[in-house]
Amino acid sequence: MAILSFEDLRNKSLDENKPIYQIAQEEEAELAEITVDMVRIKVLEDLTAMKSAVKNGLKSTEKGISGWCGDDCDKLKKHYREQPSLFGKVFEKITAYALATAEENLRMGRIVACPTAGSCGIVPSVIIAVAEEKNIPETKQIDALLTAGTIGLIVSNKVQLAGAVAGCQAECGVASAMAAGALVEMLGGETEEILQAAALAMKNILGLTCDPVCGLVEVPCIKRNAFLAVHAVTAAELALCGIKSKIPIDEVADVLKRTGELMSPVLKETSTGGLARTKTALELEKVLFKKD
Ligand code: SF4
Repeated sequence: MAILSFEDLRNKSLDENKPIYQIAQEEEAELAEITVDMVRIKVLEDLTAMKSAVKNGLKSTEKGISGWCGDDCDKLKKHYREQPSLFGKVFEKITAYALATAEENLRMGRIVACPTAGSCGIVPSVIIAVAEEKNIPETKQIDALLTAGTIGLIVSNKVQLAGAVAGCQAECGVASAMAAGALVEMLGGETEEILQAAALAMKNILGLTCDPVCGLVEVPCIKRNAFLAVHAVTAAELALCGIKSKIPIDEVADVLKRTGELMSPVLKETSTGGLARTKTALELEKVLFKKD
């Protein structure tokens, strides 16, 4: 995409009176030398794959290599059946769908990296749960996914979206910003509100480390997807009522990059610090790798 900053995106959207998704699909069509309709068909394929991942994840309790994770979604579903969530059906679905997708990733099932495999549950859970509960048509869901993709793409122009480069703020954090923007789009928000939602989500996860226990994308990754999906909803709600990030989104993304550079390598997917070096994690490692 030729647009490298959120400021450029905002200006183009205002100057041409086009929503973000329209700019995204036109840019992508030009770049890939295909029609806008073909772009939307490709996005629909991603959306369909995301829905399949949720569906498969909701049915399975199969654990991953470690045997630690894989049945949390099932536990949550059972809990909601007995005791509905304080926050209602949308919250129930968002948290369950986020876990379902992240657990599918654990099982090597088919997921859509959005923006990464470790953070694959955040964007789908928000889009799919809200679409189901608010009867939002498929075409609006495609608009939302295009909006999410644009946010992720612009951040990725500034910093590589990988825990090994900038910590989990660049994976689950950016996914949450993408989901926040997508949600605002689905709920009828304008470009400014979408960018504010993304800024608020991103700003409030700066510094999030990547410290997977035993180097597996399980702990803390899976449950983190549920937390950061809900985080996206908070950002969207704030933005939709006119609350703004005092720090503009481009500057927030720049800080994310700088924070990643300042972050010690032990907190960037090396599993040599943070949660991965706790007493419990070391014990788990001993058992898993049968170390003396
Ligand atoms: S903790 Fe690391 S491996 Fe896990 S989701 Fe976050 S960035 Fe990915």
